[in-house]
Amino acid sequence: MTPRRVVLLTAVLSAAAFVLPETAAVASAPHGTPGSVGSGDPYFPRQGNGGYDVSHYRLAVHYVPGTKRLSGVAHVTARATMTLSRFDLDLRGNLHVSSVRVNGHRAAYRQPKKLVQELVITPRHALRAGRRFHVTVHYAGTARPVTDPDGSLDGFIPTDDGAFVASEPQGAPTWYPVNDTPRDKATYAVSITVPKGLTAVSNGALTGRHAHGRLVTWSWALHQRVSSYLVTATLGRFAVSRGRTSSGVPYLTAVDPREAAAKPVLKQLPAIVDYFSKVYGRYPFGQAGAIVDHAHKVGYALETATRPLFDRAPDVATLSHELAHQWYGDDVTVAKWRDIWLNEGFAEFSSWLYTEHTGGQTTAQHLATLLANPASDSDEWLPPPGNPGSGKGIFADSVYDRGAGTLAALRQLVGDRTFFAIMRGWLPAHRYGNATVGQFTAFAQRVAHRNLTHFFYEWLYKNGKPTG
Ligand SMILES: [Zn+2]
Repeated sequence: MTPRRVVLLTAVLSAAAFVLPETAAVASAPHGTPGSVGSGDPYFPRQGNGGYDVSHYRLAVHYVPGTKRLSGVAHVTARATMTLSRFDLDLRGNLHVSSVRVNGHRAAYRQPKKLVQELVITPRHALRAGRRFHVTVHYAGTARPVTDPDGSLDGFIPTDDGAFVASEPQGAPTWYPVNDTPRDKATYAVSITVPKGLTAVSNGALTGRHAHGRLVTWSWALHQRVSSYLVTATLGRFAVSRGRTSSGVPYLTAVDPREAAAKPVLKQLPAIVDYFSKVYGRYPFGQAGAIVDHAHKVGYALETATRPLFDRAPDVATLSHELAHQWYGDDVTVAKWRDIWLNEGFAEFSSWLYTEHTGGQTTAQHLATLLANPASDSDEWLPPPGNPGSGKGIFADSVYDRGAGTLAALRQLVGDRTFFAIMRGWLPAHRYGNATVGQFTAFAQRVAHRNLTHFFYEWLYKNGKPTG
């Protein structure tokens, strides 16, 4: 659980840029220990940091599409989980920090090139275990996304009229300083300043829109705790509309006018939200909606919290997949990236379920189609969804298709009554938290009162097509 620490103190003290009044305090060796550089995820070892837990981010970002200049001020409220002499936030090196304050005092900081995304902060005073602390970071640079192990763009992705901001699994540090592990959930208040005429959309409720000169600031607040990869600040030309589902969930959609095909599909959004609320239990967030951008180079959609994000007009299957993630992924989130089946298998199965609900193929028919693929069709079966093997494998087709098939097969095996008791009961047990695949399979066995070890081995872990 405790990753190897990279000892940086010598390098820090010898760096000329580091000379600040606080240096003396650092040299006199404050109490405490440096927090770790990562949070122990084997697929993304530098992601997240050790020694503290964030409760709230207040972000103010400013973006100029013409120059791709991104600047921001981040206020981070956290609690130390050990006495810290030093700690890291994750922030990509193309964003240059100009000042850091901890509890109001100027703090020493460094962005070591070789660590790529570590902002190493040494506060004037050690941060005591159990105490709350506040960090303020000013930063600016040229916006640039990261390329994931599977080749896709991730994070703050400039578009022709703004930016598409989708940060799974490692893009959050491309636009704000963050403890970028899915396990450190927090609430967010995000305000985004853009040229007049553009709309900037984040998560939760719209709390303000203020024009000043040639600029406009859009402010948003999300009161439920979510993982950092689920936060967005997508901006561009959008038509915004609002409504309420029949069960009373308010929603807001923002659609790029070039994606007119989204309109009839988004008409189904309230019905989908209400259907999943009925089947899985109450909608976990106070707001729903969607953001449909015109950003085809991105090549994927993401279940950003409260308001999933699409790079083009989605079809109903994609819309229902991303909306189902609000329960499976955004409310209950992976503990480590290897648990990705808990996100993708569940969302894909839910999209099958919605198809069945609207008179299309049943989940049993989907399962039969899947099982008609021969064992030699390795893309359908490998990697096994319970063990995708690396960061490159987490979004493999098998995680989705075989992953959804796992739940369709479980439904057939245990029957609807037990199956939906498992699906519903799983959520309150981990509300606004994190979970592992092992926890789910153990939970399913308890609810079903039967040994499912062989079943889950065949479907989740076996290196090839499952049998029976
Ligand atoms: Zn998904």
